[in-house]
Amino acid sequence: MKNHLTLKQLQNGLQNKDYSSVELTNYYIDQINKYNNSVNAFITVDYEKSLAQAKLADEQLKLNKSSDLTGIPIAQKDIFCADGWRTTCGSKMLDNFISPYDSKVVELFNQSGAINLGKTNMDEFAMGSSNETSFYGNVKNPWNLDCVPGGSSGGSAAAVSSGMAPAATATDTGGSIRQPASLCGLTGLKPTYGLVSRYGMIAFASSLDQAGPIAKTSEDCAMMLNVMAGHDHRDSTSIKRDKLNYLDNLNDSIKGKTIGIPKEFFNSDLDEDVKKVLDRVIDEYKLLGVNFKEISLENSHLSIPVYYVIAPAEASSNLSRYDGVRYGYRASDYQDIENMYLKTREEGFGDEVKRRILVGTYVLSAGYYDAYYLKAQKIRRLIATDFKKSFSECDLILAPSSPSTAFKIGEKKEDPVSMYMQDMYTISTNLAGLPAISAPAGFINNMPIGFQLIGNYFSESTILNFVHEYQKQTGWHQEYPEVR
Ligand code: GLN
Repeated sequence: MKNHLTLKQLQNGLQNKDYSSVELTNYYIDQINKYNNSVNAFITVDYEKSLAQAKLADEQLKLNKSSDLTGIPIAQKDIFCADGWRTTCGSKMLDNFISPYDSKVVELFNQSGAINLGKTNMDEFAMGSSNETSFYGNVKNPWNLDCVPGGSSGGSAAAVSSGMAPAATATDTGGSIRQPASLCGLTGLKPTYGLVSRYGMIAFASSLDQAGPIAKTSEDCAMMLNVMAGHDHRDSTSIKRDKLNYLDNLNDSIKGKTIGIPKEFFNSDLDEDVKKVLDRVIDEYKLLGVNFKEISLENSHLSIPVYYVIAPAEASSNLSRYDGVRYGYRASDYQDIENMYLKTREEGFGDEVKRRILVGTYVLSAGYYDAYYLKAQKIRRLIATDFKKSFSECDLILAPSSPSTAFKIGEKKEDPVSMYMQDMYTISTNLAGLPAISAPAGFINNMPIGFQLIGNYFSESTILNFVHEYQKQTGWHQEYPEVR
């Protein structure tokens, strides 16, 4: 009965005492028990811990000391350290790691009175677009269990779309919030780089990683972002700005505003069916009084090659800490310390992670640094400049979120390059540090697909406003799969 209620509806339900937080949490626990076997969205659940939080939340609710998310269960991507919880990042390397502290994101949800419902499955160290690189097995798309849910936040997306959680946290280094949101029929927001603290969020590529919400609606994303955003002195790239209430501008009129259409994305490479869906999105916005204008992001075709130099370079450095010495996996059988490092990393990391470490150390090595890494950084700047110019001509930019709907499990696993192409429409915003959202735009052969809106730095309120207005007029975000 409560399946697929939004955060907003759950907040009302709790406030009206239709149910308590303990009852609500038990309801989601039942859903997890029903569906997780087939969907594999959660790596770790700890019902005792969740219910203990729910009891406390019920007390706060009684005392009227609650905030918007008090008493509402939220799933946490297993990249966020949570005190006392196993935190694996989808890797054998951290299979035995119980975090001794909370990441900033988890700390903020705890302070808000939200319930940690469990840790969601993900590609190993967030490297992937299909959730097939997880040590814990692939996640299945609730719309069709033979298909991938997208990645790397596939567990978070599948948990929400199957109704096992009302919303979830996620991270986006090159598209990992928006692509799974698109493939699972959800709304997912990647905020401006630096808006949400990365403290205690296991690092993949530090200059690109950013946390954000995956939820059912733009309004729910605003509620989540209200909790997540804010300055944190423990993250040196966290930005000091006044805290906004992202619910405030949701209903502003968007009449007379302009959306840019990048000609490099809307060319003959764009899938015909995806184009039809996006044309319908354009028509819908025109009805809302929005103008459209062609713009150019002329270096966007370089974003995938640039990303696959920069992200592996940063990953190779970040992942050097997994050496079997202080925490995580350690090989059991070794001759000396050097051999211990070697065996630990050989046995603890999966193939995709090893591929990234190899590429990353190569592009950073003497003799290749200038040719690859430095060059990539220069092109990265050009990509950001293209966006800067465009935002003098339009308020937001429309783009596809993913090149197609969800593909079959196994279809691209042996072909890294075709897997990397999944992020061709999302990666440039990470390179530029810009915010972007994916929201449901319709279906192709019964599988959901999203559209993407990209904004200027710190334009999250505008982005959420545009999608909220769209969702008031359309029903795509209210369609849910029936999981068997
Ligand atoms: N698919 C991209 C990769 O494999 C992006 C992943 C992400 O955003 N975490 O690196």
